[in-house]
Amino acid sequence: MKATMDKLVNLCKGRGIIYPGSEIYGGMGNTWDYGPVGVEIKNNIKRAWWKRFVQESDNSFGIDAAILMNSRVWEASGHTTSFSDPKMDCKCCKTRHRADVLIEAHSKGTVNPDTMTNEEMQAYITEHHVACPKCGKSDFTPIRTFNLMFETSRGVTEEGQNIVYLRPETAQGEFVNFLNVQRTTRAKVPFGIGQIGKAFRNEITPGNFIFRTIEFEQMEHQWFCKKGTDGEYYEKYKKAALDFLLDLGFDREHLRYKDHDKLAHYAKAACDIQYLFPIGWSELNGIHNRTDYDLSRHSEFSGKNMEYTDPVTGEKYIPYVIEYSIGADRLMLATLTEAYDEETLENGETRVVMRFNPAIAAYKAAVLPLQKNLGDKAREIYRNLTKSFMCTYDEAGSIGKRYRRQDEIGTPFCVTVDFETQENGTVTVRDRDSMQQIRIPAEELEKYIADRIKF
Ligand code: ATP
Repeated sequence: MKATMDKLVNLCKGRGIIYPGSEIYGGMGNTWDYGPVGVEIKNNIKRAWWKRFVQESDNSFGIDAAILMNSRVWEASGHTTSFSDPKMDCKCCKTRHRADVLIEAHSKGTVNPDTMTNEEMQAYITEHHVACPKCGKSDFTPIRTFNLMFETSRGVTEEGQNIVYLRPETAQGEFVNFLNVQRTTRAKVPFGIGQIGKAFRNEITPGNFIFRTIEFEQMEHQWFCKKGTDGEYYEKYKKAALDFLLDLGFDREHLRYKDHDKLAHYAKAACDIQYLFPIGWSELNGIHNRTDYDLSRHSEFSGKNMEYTDPVTGEKYIPYVIEYSIGADRLMLATLTEAYDEETLENGETRVVMRFNPAIAAYKAAVLPLQKNLGDKAREIYRNLTKSFMCTYDEAGSIGKRYRRQDEIGTPFCVTVDFETQENGTVTVRDRDSMQQIRIPAEELEKYIADRIKF
């Protein structure tokens, strides 16, 4: 693994992948803006996920629910009362920390804070003189729980204002629409609902680039099934989640399953897939067997019967839910980490190359005229290709420099237009990974590329 966080941040900033948010105003902590290259990569990640888990998944349907939801939703889901982290402030340098993160770091992963109560965490920190990562002192305020939901209000007059929350997860949009989707699609259980959308969390310790931010996108898929079949589907989704990553090109050695030691009171099983990020092994996605908790709670709080009626047997029941949830931005960071490579060339120079799966790369091809006076022909080829794929055009600098620029953003094919193109209509196509070049007729380019970027 050759990527470090600094290398990734610098590359992203310099190559139009990701910029610090509101940068000209000095930034806004832990917000990031995707640039022209980054937005394409992220869209391709989302498209690949949607294709796999909605388009190609039997009996699965997509939705796009509102970010603002009736506040009762968050009472039913338990977020209003218990979506919180154990927060402590360093009395010396006034920085804020999560008690569980402090313990995990101090014990180098040998102590699992997930299984501890707040009192136990407090006792551990005092007993072991756990130090503040910023100033090194060990003098913290007692643990307080801190709700992670962003609050806002709606209503025209001050008095008429109601508190609403920016959703902290997309899942509830899928749960509250369970009956709508089932009825309008006439779906039979088991079936799935997938969604991609923004979520917001007032994280106590955001950071590590786009690993943990306060605004992020989630890709979530809920599989509604009958009690008794849930174990089988839980295993199926564990495998499907891993297969998706392997098919994107992830090395199996960089991924591992991690079962949760402490389950939420409603959960029957829960597991993360961790990835070897530059910050070490950390959660990339989660798979949870949520039982019938969510639909039952919404039934109770809304007064609507969320039962499904089996059309054959007439049996009525509330389905169990297998949830698979992955952050689009966290997957973006994993994808960048995995793709990053530095290669020493024969002439001793180092080339940085992002070895993205071609389906994920921002541009499928870069069209490069060898000299500026070949620009007309090159532009014509470029315009034709843009009808089928996102492509880029570059005529500035030596051809070697232009190849390097494309390598750094992971463009799988560089199409060079030279004098022979004018004579016989052929172009050279350079492969990003092998740097091998072949000559093909320009009119075959579209098929050549299309055959190599499928996911
Ligand atoms: P963590 O333990 O890292 O806080 P979590 O267990 O709270 O994550 P979930 O609520 O299961 O995470 O969210 C599902 C997925 O959403 C995570 O696996 C992760 O990919 C992504 N995610 C969660 N919180 C954030 C965040 N603050 N920034 C970016 N992505 C996030």
